[in-house]
Amino acid sequence: MKYVSEFRDGSLARKLAKAIAQAADPARSYQLMEFCGGHTHAIFRYGVQDLVPENVNYVHGPGCPVCVLPVRRLDDAVELALNHDVILCTYGDMMRVPGTKQKSLIKAKAEGADIRMVYSTQDALRIARDNSHREVVFFAIGFETTTPPTAVAILQAKTEGLKNFTVFCNHVLTPPAIAHIVNAPAEEGEDPVRIDGFLGPSHVSSVIGSAPYEPAARIYRKPVVIAGFEPLDVMQSTLMLIRQINEGRHDVENQYTRVVTRDGNRKAQRLVEQVLELRKAFEWRGLGTVPESALKIRKDYSEFDAEKRFTISSKASREVKSCECPAILRGAKKPTECKLFGNVCTPDNPMGACMVSSEGACAAYWTYGRKREAAAAVKEVAV
Ligand code: SF4
Repeated sequence: MKYVSEFRDGSLARKLAKAIAQAADPARSYQLMEFCGGHTHAIFRYGVQDLVPENVNYVHGPGCPVCVLPVRRLDDAVELALNHDVILCTYGDMMRVPGTKQKSLIKAKAEGADIRMVYSTQDALRIARDNSHREVVFFAIGFETTTPPTAVAILQAKTEGLKNFTVFCNHVLTPPAIAHIVNAPAEEGEDPVRIDGFLGPSHVSSVIGSAPYEPAARIYRKPVVIAGFEPLDVMQSTLMLIRQINEGRHDVENQYTRVVTRDGNRKAQRLVEQVLELRKAFEWRGLGTVPESALKIRKDYSEFDAEKRFTISSKASREVKSCECPAILRGAKKPTECKLFGNVCTPDNPMGACMVSSEGACAAYWTYGRKREAAAAVKEVAV
C-alpha cells in the first residue's frame, strides 16, 4: 500500500539502524520522548528500540488523549449520564476507563445510563436529530486532531437549530504540554525526567503545523522533530534528533513532510478559533494543572456547552490505587514498573486508562512488549 509499505521496509530499516548507530556518540546517552501513543505503539510493534543502540532511550510521553483526561472529568461524564437523564455519546476507548471507585461509563451504562458509543461527531448529531425529546451530550476528548470535528458539529447544530445537542468539551493542546514537561519540577519522590529531544506529534501537527512548537524548542533548548507513525518515520526522526543533539541545535524539524507543513491546516484552525477558546488552565492526568493547555466553548456558542446547560456537581475524585498512569504519562516510570501490570491489570481487566486506550503505553507493552521481555528474561536465566 502506497505510503505505508515503503515505511515498513526491512532493508531500509537496517540502513537507518546503521546510520543511527554511527551517529550516536557512545560517550553519552540520548533520552528521546515520543510524545504520542502512536509512536509508542510503532516502537513496540516493530521493535524499534531493539534496532537502536543501548544509549538511545525512548521515554513515553502523554500523547494519548484518553489517558490524559483526569479522573475528575471522567467522573463528571459519569454523573452527567447517570443523574441528568441525557444520552451521552462517547468514543469507544472512553467507555472502559475506570474513574473514582473504578466506576467507568460502561458500568454506568450497566446501571441504566443511556451511553452510546460513536465513531464521530456526526453520529452524535444524528442521535440528537433522532431523539429531539432527549438531551444529547457529546463527550469531546482529544488533542488538536479531533478538535475541528467538534467545532464543525457545534456549527452544524447551530445552523440546524438543534436545541437538544451539547458538547462536554475536554480538548487539550500539545505545545503547552511539551513546555510543561521540560519545565515542571520533579514530583516528590521521583527523579527529574531528563529529556534531550522530542519526537513531535504527527496527526496533531497536520492540523496546527510545526510552527507552534518553535517557542518551547527555543526557550527550553530542546529539539523537536515532527515524526510520522510508521517505523521508518520513527527511526529517521530518531536520527534527525541525534544529529541535532550532537550539534547542540534545538530546532523544530519536520520529518513528516508528506502530511505536515509549517502552518498546518488554516481552514481547520479558523473553524476551531471561531467556536472554541483557550481555558486559563486545565488539569491533565499525570501533569497536573497546565496553564492555557485546553479549549472551552466560546460564549457565542454557550447554548451548546454542556457545562453551562447542566449543573455538574464534581465530587472528590481519586485515581485507582497503585495505578502508575500519572507517572508513566510524565515519563517518570515505565509500565513494567507498575506492580499491577500484567497481573491485576490487563486489557481484559484494565485498572487505568493507559491499559484501556489503544494508544496507551501499558497497552503497547502488553500487546507487543511483554512477550519479548519475558523471552529475554528466560534467555538471561539460561545463560
Ligand atoms: S499497568 Fe494498569 S494499573 Fe499499572 S499503570 Fe498501567 S494502567 Fe495503571
